[in-house]
Amino acid sequence: MNAIQHYLQKHGFEAFTPKAVLFDMDGVLFDSMPYHARSWAQVCQASGLDMSEEEAYMHEGRTGAATINILARRLWHRDATEQEIEAIYREKCRLFNACPEAPKMPGAEAVLQRVKQAGLTIAVVTGSGQKSLLDRLFSNYPGYFTPELIISSRDVKHGKPHPEPYLMALERLGLAPWEAVVIENAPLGVQAAVAARVFTIAVNTGPLPPQVLLEAGADSLFPSMDALAQALAQF
Ligand code: MG
Repeated sequence: MNAIQHYLQKHGFEAFTPKAVLFDMDGVLFDSMPYHARSWAQVCQASGLDMSEEEAYMHEGRTGAATINILARRLWHRDATEQEIEAIYREKCRLFNACPEAPKMPGAEAVLQRVKQAGLTIAVVTGSGQKSLLDRLFSNYPGYFTPELIISSRDVKHGKPHPEPYLMALERLGLAPWEAVVIENAPLGVQAAVAARVFTIAVNTGPLPPQVLLEAGADSLFPSMDALAQALAQF
């Protein structure tokens, strides 16, 4: 059975008719995850919330507040206060902004181009609230994005792996789940998209074993955005 048939059967849908592609941002459009992981590890060490860079990849997609609370419950046996969350997340953003500028993800522009040529609408659904990167969507990828179709951590109550960010994107677009495709690189992002019942393409652009993306429920898996662009060129 191919991936689309399997997707339709899994959700009991009759047709798959994509009209929009919902892009995750970090690790999909920007090769920013190494800097995020390093910034998280640094700020956590300084705040007594030990987290390795490797673990940071497993939290990718959560809002900053949710990540901080998980660590606080584990290490401090309580929730972090709003002030603690704000201070830690502000410092994490400062460290991230002090890193070299995260490059565009190789292959991402080719994917965007093919999606646009196919007449599909483009949206961004990110757990990030990192203004520096959100602003760069427009300058680095001119002509692809509109502000109303960028859903960030500021728009949602529940971040990934909750389906809310992807459900909100579908609502803004006026589309049913079978009318969209998600492109995600992180296990929690894949879980969020699958919970929103959208066909989910995982691209493994980081250090995690590919199996974790399939276990998270991805409908299709590519080793890179370049490989996805090449596959799309054949349609
Ligand atoms: Mg990501």
